[in-house]
Amino acid sequence: MSLPQFKLLRPRSVEEGVGHLAQLGGNIRILAGGTDLIPSMRQKLFEPEYVLDLRGIAGLCGIRPQPDGGVEIGALTTLRAIERSDFLRRHFSVLPEAASTVASPVLRNMGTIGGNICLDTRCLWYNQSLTWRKGCGFCIKKDGDLCHVAPGGSKCWAAFSADTPPALLCLNAEIEIAGPTGLRRLPLRDFYTGLGDNYRKLQPNELVTRVFLPAATADYRGVYRKLRVRGSIDYPLAGVAVAMKRSNGHISDARVALTAVNPAPVLVNGASETMAGRELDEALAETVGDLAARTAKPLTTSALTPEYRREMIRVFTKRALLQAFTN
Ligand SMILES: Cc1cc2nc3c(=O)[nH]c(=O)nc-3n(C[C@H](O)[C@H](O)[C@H](O)COP(=O)(O)OP(=O)(O)OC[C@H]3O[C@@H](n4cnc5c(N)ncnc54)[C@H](O)[C@@H]3O)c2cc1C
Ligand code: SF4
Repeated sequence: MSLPQFKLLRPRSVEEGVGHLAQLGGNIRILAGGTDLIPSMRQKLFEPEYVLDLRGIAGLCGIRPQPDGGVEIGALTTLRAIERSDFLRRHFSVLPEAASTVASPVLRNMGTIGGNICLDTRCLWYNQSLTWRKGCGFCIKKDGDLCHVAPGGSKCWAAFSADTPPALLCLNAEIEIAGPTGLRRLPLRDFYTGLGDNYRKLQPNELVTRVFLPAATADYRGVYRKLRVRGSIDYPLAGVAVAMKRSNGHISDARVALTAVNPAPVLVNGASETMAGRELDEALAETVGDLAARTAKPLTTSALTPEYRREMIRVFTKRALLQAFTN
């Protein structure tokens, strides 16, 4: 599959990059590591006239611990750098653990945290070549007006399938977005729409510049569990992140977040409240596993059956909580 023709723009600053985005509107796509964008362009899912390569922008790369104990991570920081960071492994361990499960070492050397956060949602009817999609019929997410997964509906249910966002949600991460009027900062949990087609709240003239992890969630115990077909290189089909603070043998704060089973990464409803102040035993871990399974809404967007993926969310949640509590 060949790449469509495009013109490559290489800004040297965020302002220059935002200027290009503002000027060229919907005719431009942002490229970071390119590990998802380039295959998608080959499949003709995107055929932009311009590609904005962010890699020449100094300052968007790097992990910078802050004096208060929090950390700032540039959007162009590779997943490999995150996986290997001693600081993150010591203080925000669920993030490097999740990063280490993305794709393969080669792809983690190229892929960035910004690209992972902004990753397009996935569906068996969408992530296919143009010939395949023409043969089976286009759908709401691209060029069509029906959904093969939920026929009769008008919503796209493509699954958000990146590994690091659930870990970031558990750590109460915030992101910084640059646009024509300057910088804005928002909690990551407010970034996603829950729609499979228009999945993130990012204007065509904006780009993600930084990720912030607050001091308040430093040193939480973390665990990430992921279901995939090929252990060596595969998107998640269900993923569970857990971050937990323990004091005096009890949970003082904990969060559980899911990926790959909804059109957005999501925090499990009621999990924090259910665990707060309690000692974790099998029964409590099972209760939270049930809450997670209720939050997950897997459909036939991905390999393996929705029933199995939902069940694995329940099982992974229980195991991850017990591991985080006892470690
Ligand atoms: C075989 C294979 C297996 C994979 N397995 C996994 C997996 O297991 N888990 C997983 O999470 N991912 C997986 N991926 C997807 C991808 O490699 C990662 O998600 C990676 O982190 C994407 O980052 P990138 O920098 O390469 O993004 P790019 O491909 O450059 O961009 C991805 C998307 O984000 C947008 N974007 C990128 N940076 C920014 C920014 N700063 N601001 C605004 N928009 C931006 C791009 O326009 C594009 O839409 C896989 C890919 C392949 C090819
Ligand atoms: S969920 Fe439906 S509309 Fe969305 S990509 Fe899949 S088939 Fe298309």
